Amino acid sequence: MASRVIPVEPFDLVIFGGTGDLALRKIIPSLYRRFLVGQMPREARVIGAARRALDSEGYRRMALAALEEFVAEEKRDPEKIADFIEMLSYIRLDARGETGWKELAETLREGVIRVFYFSVGPGLFADLAGRLSEHGLNIPDSRVVVEKPFGHDLESARALNAVLAKCFDEHHIYRIDHYLGKETVQNLMVVRFANTLFEPLWNAQYVDHIQITVAETVGVAGRGEYYDRAGAMRDMVQNHMMQLLCLIAMEPPSLFEADAVRDEKLKVIRALDPVPPENIVRGQYGRRGDIPSYREDVGNPESTTESFIAMEVHVSNWRWSGTPFYLRTGKRLKARVSEIAVIFKEPPHSIFGRRLPNHAGNMLVIRLQPNEGMVLNVTIKEPGPGGMRLMEVPLDMSFAEALGENGADIPDAYERLIMDVIRGNQTLFMRGDEVEAAWAWADPIIAAWEERGDEPLPYEPFSSGPEDALMLMHRSGRRWREISDEF
Ligand code: NAD
Repeated sequence: MASRVIPVEPFDLVIFGGTGDLALRKIIPSLYRRFLVGQMPREARVIGAARRALDSEGYRRMALAALEEFVAEEKRDPEKIADFIEMLSYIRLDARGETGWKELAETLREGVIRVFYFSVGPGLFADLAGRLSEHGLNIPDSRVVVEKPFGHDLESARALNAVLAKCFDEHHIYRIDHYLGKETVQNLMVVRFANTLFEPLWNAQYVDHIQITVAETVGVAGRGEYYDRAGAMRDMVQNHMMQLLCLIAMEPPSLFEADAVRDEKLKVIRALDPVPPENIVRGQYGRRGDIPSYREDVGNPESTTESFIAMEVHVSNWRWSGTPFYLRTGKRLKARVSEIAVIFKEPPHSIFGRRLPNHAGNMLVIRLQPNEGMVLNVTIKEPGPGGMRLMEVPLDMSFAEALGENGADIPDAYERLIMDVIRGNQTLFMRGDEVEAAWAWADPIIAAWEERGDEPLPYEPFSSGPEDALMLMHRSGRRWREISDEF
């Protein structure tokens, strides 16, 4: 089954920070893959802009090396790569000085879509926005893409929004959360709103609870300095997990259109209850053999930052009152897995006698990684004459199965998101008020543990996190799903 690819209109894309890790590892390879399938037109141009002294030839060599490293071998077509590389150029530019701005102004074309990708640290956003205005480059139809982290708390997020608002209208600002670009996450909305099967059951009457897990096996070495200031709450919960929670919990928007969807997400965030301390477990991984501890990884022997957090969260509205949402994320856990599990209630009465002790009932698991896909557990009769015994079987809705070859070839989230920017579609990007609302919810939680001098609980590397996280569920007779990369 060949997928339909509609080319986007020609564009000039300026990557500020074009020599950085994100540009080379994600943005340029994603553009190449879109070029390969015919979505990126030949008239498009990609301009790397960064501080490093380099000419366009040097930049192309750098991009070529990145494609060789980050694009799968079967997708590296030498002719296509040569054509793609031709579209790249480089301007040496200083966000904080005059270097390069005049050249950039002369390079940008009139009459094509103009995108400014801020792939630099957030400390430079204000400088970039200011210079773009000064040089009159932010023409009415230009777009700006802003990377995470979007602020460190409500105050800094507000300040960032204000800086951007001086230079761009809200409908030109694309705040990236790459979780929203994942195929499964978009599919979650389709499964909910394009089937009659799920939506009538999607509420507190039928859903017992929801689990959202983002587990990683890696530690924080390499980004220790940033991470130690952020912790799991700021790095994962306030943004990615909050977005997933919103898509699960939101009311049906009237249209699949940017503001309709974002209005509904915002209502969910505003309906979140404050989280009391007894509903939160923070953890920090210890040392195991040669594997350094969190404190060793960040080089801070007294750090009280959490590398793990589990929490019980409540959405106080008509649909969800009484159904807890359990969020859990951490580093150095036993498997790398991101998933959402919707656990439905038991039928009101069992005509088959006592339930099996480990009977899990109906459950929809939405897997973001690895093996993007969905599984629905249903209960059937165990085959054979040995009485009426029940068993669960998974109805596998994995894309690789359903879509044949295309299913195994799911595009990277950045491919989808960058093309959406060019198309001017903000549906999968966060609006300023959403980000602020998420910080307004997270800030008091963080402030409370800072005030109490809360110490995270130690946990074994490659475990499921601290024991107390299990208790969060056990106290109400529920259980976490195993952290496992198998469905
Ligand atoms: P990086 O340090 O690898 O690259 C930074 C880039 O900014 C370099 O190209 C550098 O030349 C440029 N730069 C620095 N000072 C400059 C100045 N004064 N003028 C012009 N250019 C300047 O950083 P990165 O990892 O690529 O991250 C970029 C942004 O993306 C950050 O906001 C980061 O938080 C975010 N991000 C990165 C990743 C990732 O996987 N790397 C993931 C999510 C978000």
